[in-house]
Amino acid sequence: MQLRIPGPTPIPEAVRQASAGQMINHRGPEFAELITEVTQGIKQFFQTSHDLLLLTASGTGALEAAIVNTLSPGDRVLAVSIGEFGERFAEIARAYGADVVPLTSEPGRAADPEAIARTLKMNGPFKAVLLTHNETSTGVTNDVAAISQVVHQTDALFLVDGISSISSIEMKADEWGCDVVLAGSQKGWMAPPGISMVSMGPRAWEAYAEARMPRFYWDLGRARKSFERRQTPATPAVSVLYALRASLRLLLAEGMENVFERHRRCAEKVRSGVKQLGLELLADEAHASNTVTAVKVPSDVDCSRLLKLLQADGIVLASGQGALAGKIFRIGHLGMIDDADTEVILAGLARALPLAKK
Ligand SMILES: *Cc1c(COP(=O)(O)O)cnc(C)c1O
Repeated sequence: MQLRIPGPTPIPEAVRQASAGQMINHRGPEFAELITEVTQGIKQFFQTSHDLLLLTASGTGALEAAIVNTLSPGDRVLAVSIGEFGERFAEIARAYGADVVPLTSEPGRAADPEAIARTLKMNGPFKAVLLTHNETSTGVTNDVAAISQVVHQTDALFLVDGISSISSIEMKADEWGCDVVLAGSQKGWMAPPGISMVSMGPRAWEAYAEARMPRFYWDLGRARKSFERRQTPATPAVSVLYALRASLRLLLAEGMENVFERHRRCAEKVRSGVKQLGLELLADEAHASNTVTAVKVPSDVDCSRLLKLLQADGIVLASGQGALAGKIFRIGHLGMIDDADTEVILAGLARALPLAKK
């Protein structure tokens, strides 16, 4: 079976076996070792020397944590959104009473640093800027380094959703001045869903001290205090941590640069193969994602029939979300993927396409 949706992603056999481990006392010494190793491994992929905290939640929990730990109701927030996940980040901020100013782009386009700079100048001052590093709904990767430069011409905090990028695409949280960065276990980390990750830099902790949005389960101050004792405030998803320990060992043994290069190469193969089949990409190619490719459905093809045919052939792809439902399909190529997998996906697509004509 080729599970090629942008999360959950397939997990290697060693990771599956690790996740079947016996339960341990989450206040005991084995757990302390487990959370220490996992946290250190994740920090390497975030390229951060600041605090990295684990939450028992899917990625959305981490998005919510980023908001409630740094903001107060009424704070003006610039929500840069290039798709569904950018919208979700904005919606959470709105739900907690932030004064959200949206800045959106056409589906398939990356966020424009100049447009962000203009909005920051004209509609500010802003307390925070929300950005999606890699927009999974459109297959577009934003230029975090360039956007960071315009954000840091102001005092705004920079909160970055790296859920479908980190561990597959380079993220330099500290160098790029990202105050809060998030990720989730079921994407490129080759682990099951259930753990999300949040890094908090010094400016984020300053904001935390003043932030007045309600928080309890997502209170990162409590998580930081527990982590001093190598624990978590509530019972963690121990099995997912076992899995993450095993998958991080695999990823780090391969080497971060090699992991990124493998994702670049597989993404390139998928994009060129898709184009050879006469299909069009949704993403502006200069910003095409190395973890997910969104493909336009030709007008004479029935998208749901196409996905069903592929599924019957053992290849599971994702449909479009929101307004893009029926208009695109998405190929996830993150985590456990190699050149041979890309060939299987493309061959399946070549077989299914002519049969999915309206
Ligand atoms: C998957 C994803 C999320 C949401 O994650 P859940 O784990 O489904 O809560 C948020 N942002 C991005 C960019 C994602 O890819």
